[in-house]
Amino acid sequence: MNFKQIEKYAKENNIPIMQKTGIEFLTKYINDNNIKNILEIGSAIGYSAIKMALANDKVKVTTIEKDDDRYLMAIKNIKEFDLDKRITLVHADALDINLEGKYDLIFIDAAKGQYIRFFDKYSKNLAKNGVIISDNMEFHGLVEQEERIASKNLRQLVNHIRDYIEFLKSNAEFNTTFYKIGDGISVSLRNE
Ligand code: SAH
Ligand code: MG
Repeated sequence: MNFKQIEKYAKENNIPIMQKTGIEFLTKYINDNNIKNILEIGSAIGYSAIKMALANDKVKVTTIEKDDDRYLMAIKNIKEFDLDKRITLVHADALDINLEGKYDLIFIDAAKGQYIRFFDKYSKNLAKNGVIISDNMEFHGLVEQEERIASKNLRQLVNHIRDYIEFLKSNAEFNTTFYKIGDGISVSLRNE
């Protein structure tokens, strides 16, 4: 599939790939900051991993996906873009495995209820001067919305994101900036 087809497939199958403006921000960040090694948590069908790898040909991406079907689809898409040398797909629950590598950028885009755990677990894999970027910090504008959200699941999800935002704001080891780009992006830099 090409990008248009991946975007269409994602829409039709409710696969929450990054919004265009969000992924543009990310690829620009990669190029502006000379990012080479990236760890992504939550590959889905490989869209953002492929986009990041195409930022420039020095970029290497390791990306973790737990869902069988999405993993298989991601493998296929990465092959079709001829990026299997620069993208390593790991089929696992990110909370069940341990990686040895150090990464300049860790991109968190998986289960919203586990963002704090992903952050705590993988910050040991962050290279010196590395950055942790997280997606969906606004969740379609619901995070800043005051009204009661009718669905219990959605309310829970939004509360998880709010907890994560508080966690980032109160984290003394990292300095976080929140951007109203895409579905909301946070950029957490480790204090020197
Ligand atoms: N980054 C992708 C979208 C990811 S959607 C893109 O923009 O193209 C989130 C994905 O995270 C889903 O496919 C889901 O299966 C996966 N996921 C959720 N929790 C996970 C976990 N604990 N470990 C690995 N993958 C996880
Ligand atoms: Mg996302």
